[in-house]
Amino acid sequence: MIIPPRSPSEGCGGGDPEWVASLDILESAALRTLYAASRQFACATNRNEILDLLVKGVCALTATPNALFTSTATAERLLRVAGCQLPEGAREELHLSPQVLAMLDMRGALVQGESAPEWANVATSMNTHGPLLVLPIPMPPQPHALLILALPNGPLAPHQHLALINLVSDAVRALDRIARAEAIWHDASLSHSNRILAAVNAVTDIGLLYSNVIDQMLNAILNQILNALNLAAGAILIYNDESEDLEVASALVSSHHGQQSDLISLWQAAFLPTSIAEARKAANQGQVLASSSSEDQFFLSHLHSLGVTQLISVPLLAGGWLTGVLQVVVCDANPINQYQSQILHILARQTAVAIENARLFAQTRNDQERTSAVVDATNDAILMLDERRRVMIINRRARFFFGISERELQEKDLEQLSIIFNRIFEDPPRFHGWLRQLLRSPTERVVAEFRIIRPEARLLQCFSAPVMDLHDRYLGRILVFRDITREREVERMKSEFVSNVSHELRTPLTSIQGTLQLVLGPKRSGSEGLPQRARDLLNVSLSNTERLIRLINDILDVAKIEQGRIELRRETLSVEDLCRAAVAEMHAFANHRGMSIDMDLQPGLPSVLADRDRSTQILINLLSNAIKFSVGSQSVLLSARTDGSMVYFSVRDWGRGIDLENQERIFQKFVQIDSSATRDVGGTGLGLSISKALVEEQGGRIWLESELGRGSTFTFTLPVAPGLPTRTEPSGNQPLALLLGFTNDTARLCAQFNSVGWQVREVDDLSGLVDLPTAHVLIAVLPHDPSAAQALLDHLSSNEISRGMPLLTLGQPHSPTRPGIKMIASDASVDQIIQAALSVVATRQLHVLVVDDDRYVRPVLVRLLQRHGFRVTNVADGLTALTIIEQARPDVVLLDVKMPGIDGTEVLRRIKENPLTAMTRVIILTANDLGESLQSQVLRLGADGYLEKPITYERLISMVMSPRMQDENHHEL
Ligand code: ADP
Repeated sequence: MIIPPRSPSEGCGGGDPEWVASLDILESAALRTLYAASRQFACATNRNEILDLLVKGVCALTATPNALFTSTATAERLLRVAGCQLPEGAREELHLSPQVLAMLDMRGALVQGESAPEWANVATSMNTHGPLLVLPIPMPPQPHALLILALPNGPLAPHQHLALINLVSDAVRALDRIARAEAIWHDASLSHSNRILAAVNAVTDIGLLYSNVIDQMLNAILNQILNALNLAAGAILIYNDESEDLEVASALVSSHHGQQSDLISLWQAAFLPTSIAEARKAANQGQVLASSSSEDQFFLSHLHSLGVTQLISVPLLAGGWLTGVLQVVVCDANPINQYQSQILHILARQTAVAIENARLFAQTRNDQERTSAVVDATNDAILMLDERRRVMIINRRARFFFGISERELQEKDLEQLSIIFNRIFEDPPRFHGWLRQLLRSPTERVVAEFRIIRPEARLLQCFSAPVMDLHDRYLGRILVFRDITREREVERMKSEFVSNVSHELRTPLTSIQGTLQLVLGPKRSGSEGLPQRARDLLNVSLSNTERLIRLINDILDVAKIEQGRIELRRETLSVEDLCRAAVAEMHAFANHRGMSIDMDLQPGLPSVLADRDRSTQILINLLSNAIKFSVGSQSVLLSARTDGSMVYFSVRDWGRGIDLENQERIFQKFVQIDSSATRDVGGTGLGLSISKALVEEQGGRIWLESELGRGSTFTFTLPVAPGLPTRTEPSGNQPLALLLGFTNDTARLCAQFNSVGWQVREVDDLSGLVDLPTAHVLIAVLPHDPSAAQALLDHLSSNEISRGMPLLTLGQPHSPTRPGIKMIASDASVDQIIQAALSVVATRQLHVLVVDDDRYVRPVLVRLLQRHGFRVTNVADGLTALTIIEQARPDVVLLDVKMPGIDGTEVLRRIKENPLTAMTRVIILTANDLGESLQSQVLRLGADGYLEKPITYERLISMVMSPRMQDENHHEL
């Protein structure tokens, strides 16, 4: 049975480029065999050698017995000319029937014909009954040459087929080369010049064909030269740059003079030095030399004994450079004639060029290999896409990171690459979008981070830049991936450690700071009995505690920023409010330094969409720097303007300024320009880096214009709020008065309340109060009708909302009154109304419940609050707190989060769920907890405020006095 090829589409032409292109299915063992065979084919000097190599190669690739038959004088009778692993009884002769011959002629290819009995002869020739594979080999002048494989183990696998075809195609090429060489020499009809041309062509071909394997190339060229000039033997000596001498690179006895194999001794052992000396002489003189001139008698007599009449040495010169020497021996009685000498010259020149090319090629390849070894050795993954967006380079590390083989990626275009990356990247569209945009830009250099999920989860930092050649032509784009998984993990651990330590420091600091504040009093002047010296020392302690607190706050902010846990509560904010709040905070500091802060706000500024506390923090940091780094009694200017989509805030000082070199650096962490100068004024070098992160997180940017000695202007932007109406919230320390049913001169009353730092809001009825922040005072105008007035009073004191509020009523002389409710005449002047409202607020004792399990912090808080005139109850656990809240209805609950038993969030949830206690204002106390987004959690649960420990006295009081409520105007994005 004759086995057909595996599939019709596989074709059968040996040199079919499709076959060659699909070489990648071959196993490495097969590739090695093919490569070795190809080298041997190249060195072969005659046809039989090639055929022998072919059958052995077939055995190595397919492990099957095989034989090669060629036709003799008659086409039907074929003789075996080579065979490998042939079974006993295999025949040396093969007779083909006319049908088989016809089929061979028709197909010229792998032959099939299971049903044809005429193939029986072929099977007999191999002495087998099993399947056969018959492969015609083009080998002129034979009409037919067949390679026959016996396949006792069944059909060949596709990759064996493929390897076989490639092997045959190599052999055919080698046979063709030998045939052409022989033709040149034997074709008497060739004219002299044609012969030269043909020989030169052959040498050039060899040079091009084998330039990557210099040894084989030299053998092939030498063989060609010996054949072309019918010379017996020869050698090519190459000039070695390192030893600065000639070395034999190839020595051959021509196949036509095989019987004179002794000739090779001229380039071996005892005779080698003289041959090299002869070659050196020719090289030095730069001309052809014949050895008959040699003075070495021993050598001459050896030549003579070998029948050599001349040893001719021809320098091999390429572009004036000596690359080596060609030596050939002439065995005829007649010395080489002028015509032959001409050919020799031309061939020598061709040889020199071929050697030089091969050297350049080897050097280029070496350079390339070295470069790719370096690229492979780097710890970063490198991927380069050429200008057609095809993969050009992918190094070992990249293959490892992406778990793909070089073959999978090589030459792939962007589309194919995307398919592969789809299963590797966590967010493929993001990566593809990024890459596509970069590929459109011939200049952009960027860094980005991407997560991959296969073959192993990693966080990769990817740097990308265009690759340009020496002439600035775009060659493609390089992507360098660095594994930063571990680095990030360490960073995370570090900043978690920092935040844990800082967190632990906060609670004791709260207690120390509070204690010192208690001892020193609000004005830091200390109680009467305290000696001045003790007061001074305590003041120093308090200042240092505050400094420590600032430092810890900064460090915690940095940790939060680095962990991406900055939580912003964006809302529509009035620019003026923001600026005023910041200036108010810095007012005392500026005063203390004999400086003033001026404000210049463009009229009609739109509101910004930003986080109130964080934006104030940025302004305060810039203002504090401006004050710190100014000298003498200068002023600082805070200005704001808009360009439509952004509001620009600028803080200008006329202080020491910052040189250009430092302007870039100063937004980095811990950078202080002149630490000795900074030490005088204090600071951590963190403020600007925090400000930058906060600005950018809010969608703005920050920059600096400065000149040394001439002051600085720091400017940052915040986005304008998109069409949301601005509602001026009572800021943290602005009390609020509600006016119920008041009509007389409302505008003037509002203006006057404003002038003493109050906010006023009118409400029509009590239902309107539900949506409003808890007020400090409710001013209600009583109706003229006494019974209506009575009803309103009843309503006010029973209503859940108004019951806890300080109340001022405006009534008639006959209006009803209630104990504990202050009333003044409805026709009182605006001044009188304000005075009365203030006294209502002042005399009302707010009831505050402190819930904290820390036995050091709790008493300090209690004392601070009591000193401010509040009625304070304190408990250490949540359950007791809930009972007290329900029974005693405190106005404000200061609630610690971390407590044993039920924690603060649970207490908060229960307070807000219970309709009886839902209106109680709850302010959450916590040391900064980075573990969870606690802030948003408690605000969601309905907390009215949030205080981070350590708590300053001022902040505590202002928060208890006027908590800001969460309402529908709070836009969290
Ligand atoms: P800190 O002020 O706590 O040292 P910052 O990050 O706020 O940290 O500032 C970093 C450094 O930048 C300061 O130490 C100072 O050297 C310089 N700097 C900041 N603002 C100004 C300014 N307005 N004028 C001069 N130098 C300034």
